[in-house]
Parts: sequence; C-alpha cells; structure tokens
Amino acid sequence: MKVLLKVEDVTKYYGTGQVVTKALDGISFDVAKGDFVAIMGASGSGKSTLLNCISTIDRVSAGKIILEGDVISSKKEDELAHYRRDKLGFIFQDYNLLDTLTVEENITLPLNLQGVAHKKSSVLCRQITEQLAISEQLNKFPVELSGGQRQRVACARALITKPSVILADEPTGALDSINSKKLMGTLVMMNEEMQSTILMVTHDPLVGSYAKRVLFLKDGKLWNELYKGDKSNRVIHEEILATMALLGGEGLV
Ligand code: ADP
Ligand code: MG
Repeated sequence: MKVLLKVEDVTKYYGTGQVVTKALDGISFDVAKGDFVAIMGASGSGKSTLLNCISTIDRVSAGKIILEGDVISSKKEDELAHYRRDKLGFIFQDYNLLDTLTVEENITLPLNLQGVAHKKSSVLCRQITEQLAISEQLNKFPVELSGGQRQRVACARALITKPSVILADEPTGALDSINSKKLMGTLVMMNEEMQSTILMVTHDPLVGSYAKRVLFLKDGKLWNELYKGDKSNRVIHEEILATMALLGGEGLV
C-alpha cells in the first residue's frame, strides 16, 4: 500500500517557562492511501493536538509531518493556506456550516474559494449529494435540517475538492446513536467506494469499530494499535473495550 501520510517522531509542547505541557511525545505512524484510521485515548491524551498538527492549525515543536512526500510541518504560513484548502477535508463535531448559505452554497464553498466555475461546482455538488442521499436538501438552509443531515452536508463539503485526506474530530459528537450509526455508514461508504483516506478522532468505541485501524494515545504517546482486518464490528468493538480497560485511568471522555 502506498504511504500517503507520515507522522515522524512528532512532539508538541504548549506554553513556556514553568507551565509547559507536552501534548505529544514522539509520535510516529504511517497512513496508507485508502486507509480509515480512528484515534482514541482519554481526555487530554493529545488526540485533537495530533489532528491539529496534521492539519497545520497547530505547529509541531519537533518531528515531521509528510503528506505525499511533501514536508508540510516546515512550510510557511502562506503555503499552508493552500495546503489546507487543496489537500484536506474537514468534518467537525459541530458541523461548521454557515447558516446564511443554502446547503448547495455550503457544499460548493471550498470550490468557490478555489475559483472553480459555478457550472462545474454545481455538477460536482449534484454527484456527491446523490451519493450521500441529500440531493433533496440543496435549496434548504442548515437550520431546516436534522443533525444527521447537517453532518452529511459537512461530509459533502469535505469531499467536494477530492482532498488527499479527510480529518474528522469527534464527527458523531453531537449526534444521537441512530444518527451516529448512519454517519459511520456514510464514512465507510466514502472510504470503500470513493477511496477517501480518513483520519478520525473519537472517544466512542462503537464509532471506532467502523475504522480499519485504531490508534490509542496515552499521555501524548502512541500506546497501542488495533487492526480490524476481517473482523466484524462486534469483535473489534470488544477488542477496543478490552484495550480501553487496559489503558485504565479516568476512561475515555
Ligand atoms: P484530547 O483531544 O485527547 O482530549 P488535547 O489534544 O486537546 O487532548 O490536549 C492534550 C494536552 O495538551 C492536554 O493536557 C491539554 O490540556 C493540552 N493543551 C491542548 N491545547 C492546548 C493549548 N492551546 N494550550 C495549552 N495546553 C493545551
Ligand atoms: Mg479533543
């Protein structure tokens, strides 16, 4: 499998002087093209920091992040805006849709920012929204949608630029269990049928059981890793629960 993303010995400190937090401590792993990786660990273990370093919202203190052979951790701020816009798709817990734009305008916003012509972005929007079963909602505003539908709109917005990697931080965090399950079905479809590479942070073992790999962080270190392989969701879910019990501490919140 072709390596798409390399995280090499990444360390991240926050603060200065006597109040320094080591949020990430020498983390290394590779992500292959087409992979679906869940990142799990207790609150404060460094999950969001890791995702934010990969998305360059945070800068690493040491180590490297390499995407498609490009060392992005040493890029300058003006190059990073292009990197984020062209190479990454984001899905957030709280959807981050713009209330004053319609569903279609929200979804095509990243293409408008890239200067893609309206006609082309409209065609791409139709294709993706049909795959995600939200093509009936294009003229509505986000407030008129359910939480589950809003998150599918966010998925469409993340997909429309055909990014190299989709980064999702607690994508089911605001959804009930039925809509969480539906969203995970959508992410699996994006991964299997659209060949999207997905890196997702979650504290929920059921959500993690949909991924192909689960990385566990503890105190900013990569502590353990599970591979789903041919195992069912049920079996990998049991393994995630057993690993969490070994991780110990205050539980995953
Ligand atoms: P998680 O997402 O696993 O809950 P985080 O990545 O948010 O963990 O946090 C890891 C550690 O870094 C925690 O100790 C947290 O308090 C600290 N931290 C995160 N962001 C900041 C920040 N902006 N400034 C200072 N400390 C931070
Ligand atoms: Mg977090």
